Amino acid sequence: MTLIAVSKTKPVSMIGEAMGEGILDFGENKPQELRDKYEVLPKDIRWHMIGNLQRNKVKYVVGRAVMIHSVGSLELAETIEKEAAKKGLRMPCLVEVNIAGEETKSGIAPEETEEFMRKLAGFEHLSVKGLMTIAPYVDDPEMNRVHFRSMRNLAVDIARKNIDNIMVNELSMGMTGDFEVAIEEGATMIRVGTGIFGERDYSL
Ligand SMILES: *Cc1c(COP(=O)(O)O)cnc(C)c1O
Repeated sequence: MTLIAVSKTKPVSMIGEAMGEGILDFGENKPQELRDKYEVLPKDIRWHMIGNLQRNKVKYVVGRAVMIHSVGSLELAETIEKEAAKKGLRMPCLVEVNIAGEETKSGIAPEETEEFMRKLAGFEHLSVKGLMTIAPYVDDPEMNRVHFRSMRNLAVDIARKNIDNIMVNELSMGMTGDFEVAIEEGATMIRVGTGIFGERDYSL
């Protein structure tokens, strides 16, 4: 199980402190912020791109992040493929699934996920490792158990298909409010921001 410390909006000094506690996996949701922090912080940090990624910003992330968690469209996948080819590497990625079918959220519908992954199988510079979801915002984490369980079942179903060039080993799910439930339901990566760094201040 990998704990990703979500450091978005937080200064590099706080990331340094977290490193002192032994954390090396950090998550960012803004490409430029990831790039800027990458440039000034130690290179043994493993950066995870967890947020919505616009195609014109893919260049900031490929070659810096160890994984892009938020691949939710074919267009984005194509852009990552091209950028990774240009830089001569294979970019580890997760497919973002809109597990609860929320209108406001991006991600692939669960019933379309297998077909989407079959399309990605042809991308030589993209290395699909599994699935990611951002569960609904709920007061009671138990309410998300059903969604985490559906994610796990979806991952198992797709893994059984043995699609060439596609792995479904990683399940990135669970945040500060619901990570315990996510772990119980099979998360291999949890993304915790507030629980590690405290509330975020977006007014800065
Ligand atoms: C901000 C963010 C998190 C962390 O949220 P917390 O509730 O602060 O733990 C996790 N995943 C994604 C995609 C995020 O944008």
